[in-house]
Amino acid sequence: MEDESHVLSRATMPGFDHTNEVETLTQVPNSRVPVPTLERLATYLRLLHDLDQAHIETVSSSEVERQTGINAAQFRKDLSYFGEFGKPGVGYNVPELRQRITRILKIDRPKPVILIGAGNLGSALVGYPGLKEHQFELVAVFDNNYGKIGRPLWNLVIQDIARLKELNDSLKARIAILAVPASAAQDVCERLVDAGIRAILNFAPVLLRVPEGVYVRNVSFIQELAVLSYHLSEEEERERQQNGHNQADMAESHLTTLAAYAAAVEPEVPDRTEAPIES
Ligand code: ATP
Repeated sequence: MEDESHVLSRATMPGFDHTNEVETLTQVPNSRVPVPTLERLATYLRLLHDLDQAHIETVSSSEVERQTGINAAQFRKDLSYFGEFGKPGVGYNVPELRQRITRILKIDRPKPVILIGAGNLGSALVGYPGLKEHQFELVAVFDNNYGKIGRPLWNLVIQDIARLKELNDSLKARIAILAVPASAAQDVCERLVDAGIRAILNFAPVLLRVPEGVYVRNVSFIQELAVLSYHLSEEEERERQQNGHNQADMAESHLTTLAAYAAAVEPEVPDRTEAPIES
């Protein structure tokens, strides 16, 4: 579902000189890191976070492969964009690698995030502890429903979307999570940009139009479920065909018995006058 054309399409990340054996992070301006690499870095970071919590000090690239499904060579290649990591035969020091990836992804200090849409999804996200664990600090939640505005939501109070620009002048959030219905998403997106937001995590099933310099990542549960469902139905179809094949001989041998039974029982004529079922 990856659409790299508008996702971080203008992103530049500082790269690091890896011709040097010493573990220094030398910035190379204007070098570009592919978005899939950035995504994998975030996956490594999640694993490193878990290993660190479990007080595991070193990890090998094959262990990373086992735990993330990303192959060991790819892991080493991804890291090679940023310098020398790990020691042959020893592996990677977990806290150190975690810290370095955190710095690369620029999440080594808390980042204020705002959320728009205190509905079912938005409310669940506000309560998700993983945001804070990864230094994304949810500083405000906005809605346009007067039945919700002013109500507490976890540790926040739902704010009126009309005050978005005014409040964000002091909050200085540059990242927003958009959890409003599709019909409201573009309008809210424009308000966000006007309020200084430069990166949007969009849960609304709609493609947002944003000006230069604003990045959007789309999260679509339904799209993901549809792809899973497609894989499953393909598999089920294969199984059906396989079973059909295996049972063909058996069915053949039953046919004679069935035919004899059908001949013995008076067939019931179905009533075709009932209304068709609405889909
Ligand atoms: P609920 O039924 O409680 O509103 P929901 O998740 O079913 O929850 P949605 O219709 O998906 O509701 O809307 C999500 C949230 O977005 C709601 O809280 C709604 O009030 C809010 N919302 C809708 N339009 C806007 C808008 N233009 N600005 C800000 N918030 C909005």
